[in-house]
Amino acid sequence: MLKRVKVEVSAHHVHISREDLDVLFGVNYELTFFKELSQPGQFASLEKVDLISADGRLDNVRILGPIRLKSQVEISQTDARRLKVDAPLRLSGDLEGSASIKLVGPKGEIILKEGVIIAKRHFHCTTKTAKELNLVDKSIVKVKTGEFGARGLIFDNIEVRISDEFSDAVHVDTDEGNAFSMGGVCMMGEIIN
Ligand SMILES: [Zn+2]
Repeated sequence: MLKRVKVEVSAHHVHISREDLDVLFGVNYELTFFKELSQPGQFASLEKVDLISADGRLDNVRILGPIRLKSQVEISQTDARRLKVDAPLRLSGDLEGSASIKLVGPKGEIILKEGVIIAKRHFHCTTKTAKELNLVDKSIVKVKTGEFGARGLIFDNIEVRISDEFSDAVHVDTDEGNAFSMGGVCMMGEIIN
């Protein structure tokens, strides 16, 4: 069955814990809203940090809000190569044994022992759409972006996450967006399952 769905490029970003935000930006600092993201309640903040590894750096990486229990850094494979960090391909929140990096903010710096991942592409799926497409949590689907980008492409191994907190959207990273010459930050694709 085919279903048209938004495909969005998620650029490299940082999720931050209360504790780490205190160190990087000052005690009780609050993130400044910049713009809404497709997933309800999630937003891009104005705040940015620099990522520093033993062999490289990536400056001005945006923090996404709201704050989380654990800090997490999501980068592309291109970024990982540039930083020379061995970041595993994982879904958000699956951080055990992931890569380490230093975060530098205006008021301080921290060394994140683990938390650096290359985000695995995924489908934020509502319960209603899951029923329609006969999907369960952790199902694997493909998304066809071919007719919409300048380069035709079908992505496989897209993990389905189901929640009524979500709005339907497939998330890929900047390497993947570039691979199908995606014009903007959001295009339509077709779920194939
Ligand atoms: Zn996502």
